[in-house]
Amino acid sequence: MKRVYNFSAGPSVLPESVLRRAAEEMLDYQGSGQSVMEMSHRSKIYEGIIGSAESSLRELMNIPENYKVLFLQGGGWSQFSMVPMNLMVKNGKADFVVTGQWAANAQKEAARYGEARIVASSKDKMFSYIPELDPSTFSPDADYFHICMNNTIYGTRYTKLPETGNVPLVADISSCILSEPVDVTKFGVLYAGAQKNVAPAGLTIVIIREDLIGHAMEITPTMFNYKVHADNGSMFNTPPCYPIYICGLVLEWIKKEFGSLEGMKAHNEKKAAILYNYLDQSKLFRGTVEKKDRSLMNVPFVTGNEELDAKFVKEAEAVGFVNLKGHRSVGGMRASIYNAMPIKGVEALVEFMADFEKKNA
Ligand SMILES: *Cc1c(COP(=O)(O)O)cnc(C)c1O
Repeated sequence: MKRVYNFSAGPSVLPESVLRRAAEEMLDYQGSGQSVMEMSHRSKIYEGIIGSAESSLRELMNIPENYKVLFLQGGGWSQFSMVPMNLMVKNGKADFVVTGQWAANAQKEAARYGEARIVASSKDKMFSYIPELDPSTFSPDADYFHICMNNTIYGTRYTKLPETGNVPLVADISSCILSEPVDVTKFGVLYAGAQKNVAPAGLTIVIIREDLIGHAMEITPTMFNYKVHADNGSMFNTPPCYPIYICGLVLEWIKKEFGSLEGMKAHNEKKAAILYNYLDQSKLFRGTVEKKDRSLMNVPFVTGNEELDAKFVKEAEAVGFVNLKGHRSVGGMRASIYNAMPIKGVEALVEFMADFEKKNA
């Protein structure tokens, strides 16, 4: 068996040890005589699985008591409407920073339910930076303030949070959850589709301050009401059982291998630096993002020549570096180097790039 180095933006690489453990437990989960896919979500044994996934997440992310953790479905996309349906309820308005397609989609969906004001955007330079934010331009009566913490397509991330005062900060952390510590107390809601850094597709994690639950708009579908899920311990209906199980294994893997999210961050910084340092001295490849805003997870780069980009992607794939083609909206290349991408994967990629550079100088 040969495994490739998978640089996919999502669904993406999972830790090999987690996949092995899942394989070992596939036919008989801990003596139950069933796989996790087959068991009742109401069984004692599954309660243990979802309970330990939640407690590991709380421990690693240091989630305070007054926040609920919800294991939902529907992806990042459904949060783009679930957030406004539950939060845009006092003054019917919210502020948005548009730093890419996901942030823009969140704003567009919210505009169906109220006034979704764009306070800043980096569209002028193809979303290659995080705009400076001036709190005096924020709406003091907004029901929430929305950001996308890590911009998966363009490869930027926030390194400092906007000062929103009493206005709850809501962040899409789909592509950076668990990559570094976040101060949960600074947020009203954090949400993430799991398929980038946590689990297979199908699970959406929501971390929400309790006082923001229970005010949903009248029109809110039952499944889109945070209160319904919070009151039922994410078991109102059948939860995404198998992704929650893998999520639990991934969290255990982080604890065992890196100790904490500080440890995870140090590892990710070291890993990303290998690629960025190479890009900064390369005469063929260059990164497309302002240095101060560079993502630790998604690294877009180009040669400046579309044909050469395509040649690179093709040759890389042939030797086992897969999914390096950039997003269709930006072109070029993108290496997504999530938590589970080993350092040796990035080292091997850089070696391959240097070799390609020599041959195509
Ligand atoms: C992938 C992604 C989404 C969309 O997630 P789905 O689960 O496909 O709905 C939203 N936001 C960000 C930042 C993403 O990376």
